[in-house]
Amino acid sequence: MAAFLLPKNLCQKIDSHLCKFWWGESLDPKDKKLHLIAWENLCKPKAEGGDGEFIDPWCDHWIPDIGTAKPKPNSIPDPTLKVADFIDQDTRTWNRQKLDLHFDQPSIERIVQIPLSSVHSRDRRAWDLTRDGVFTTKSAYMGLRGHRDLSADKLWKEIWRTKVPYRIQIFVWKCAKNAIPVRDILSKRMNIGDNLCPRCHREAETITHALITCPQVSRIWFLSRLNVRTDLFRDKTILDWLRYWLGINPYQLNVNLMENFPFVVCLMWAIWNSRNALIFSNKYESATSIINSASRMISQRHNLRIIPTNSSPQNQTILSYWSPPRSGWFKINTDGAWDPNTSKGGVGLVTRDSFGLFLSAAAMHINTYSAEEAEIRAIWTAMKQAMERKITALEIESDAKVVVEQLKRKNYCGAWNTDALLKDIEVWSLSFEKLSFNYVPRVCNRVAHELAQWGKNSTTDMFWGTPPVWLLPVLRGDQFLC
Ligand SMILES: [Zn+2]
Repeated sequence: MAAFLLPKNLCQKIDSHLCKFWWGESLDPKDKKLHLIAWENLCKPKAEGGDGEFIDPWCDHWIPDIGTAKPKPNSIPDPTLKVADFIDQDTRTWNRQKLDLHFDQPSIERIVQIPLSSVHSRDRRAWDLTRDGVFTTKSAYMGLRGHRDLSADKLWKEIWRTKVPYRIQIFVWKCAKNAIPVRDILSKRMNIGDNLCPRCHREAETITHALITCPQVSRIWFLSRLNVRTDLFRDKTILDWLRYWLGINPYQLNVNLMENFPFVVCLMWAIWNSRNALIFSNKYESATSIINSASRMISQRHNLRIIPTNSSPQNQTILSYWSPPRSGWFKINTDGAWDPNTSKGGVGLVTRDSFGLFLSAAAMHINTYSAEEAEIRAIWTAMKQAMERKITALEIESDAKVVVEQLKRKNYCGAWNTDALLKDIEVWSLSFEKLSFNYVPRVCNRVAHELAQWGKNSTTDMFWGTPPVWLLPVLRGDQFLC
């Protein structure tokens, strides 16, 4: 095991730089700011949430005689690298090749001058900066961590493995360490008046409340494509929340939940930013806007569909997604399927409310003579069902542009196979207080599309009050990203 000695004043400098990085302060007690993360946590191995966060500044400032100048990394700093990774453990020399990959030449010249000890110190407790100043690379990570909690290890590893921007990883790690300056934490350390949540002014602003369970935040989670009810986490900690998504003890591993983890942490970050914008800039951000900004953070990984609009002269792109109806309205997405070879057709309907909540779905088999007929039959069925359920404010969405435009013009004349349906629609329109027909691109109508296909290939009509399992992925995907 390699080790090398660092002068005490250098250790102080390192301490000072780490403090600056984490807390933006010097060691000077006059300049004391709030330390939300205990020093011991920062010194823990990465799996427990320690060294990875400061490895960049560590690498930036561990070189003697370089002062506060930062060595320029040659590549994007890899947060998983440790100082030990740059040391050839067999020869106990600096690995020039690896250094070349990561640092510029002036930095490397200084690094290779740091003497490496050939003394084995496997079991030695090390990096006790404030006392003897001895640093051994591996023991710094192994020695300080003490008792190991395997499920905690797993949580940290998953956080660092999540493919989101580095600053979001750090944010989540801080959340898990209870180190986010929410009012409940601040009020225990300084006089800030009350500890109430700045959004709802009703409950203490704990991290869980601020990011997950505040009624206003809860709504965001529910409207998002995760469609999750966060009130179940009211009495839980933020660790429980993270473990839930990652399937860590006591929660069961669920691949569907885990796949959403990057979005979950991006949304936590977006919610935190919106909370700060509200407090510090008095700027209110809508739920949709918060959700969209979280989506953008992971957009590359999730193949967000971006549809160019013709209407925009600047050739801007807009995100196209299913959206819930206006408050108090219901929305039924409809689709008709038709196979010209067999004359088999299908009708698909899905009803959701203004919270985006799934209410019901239907898939029916029909015999039909044209695609247009199938589409009109779908709208006809949607209206019929809405009336039976005493819905009075209804948005009907369809991807049949010609049909929707005809209905918007209140033209109810059809061909021999559609005229009767259109006449029904005309009469039924009068029984709604509010009714609108909307055209949406097919990518925003995928749930209804799936249901119509299902109906076409089936021999029985099906109704669901809770979504069938096979519909869940597309239903979730439809939530905010088509
Ligand atoms: Zn609140």
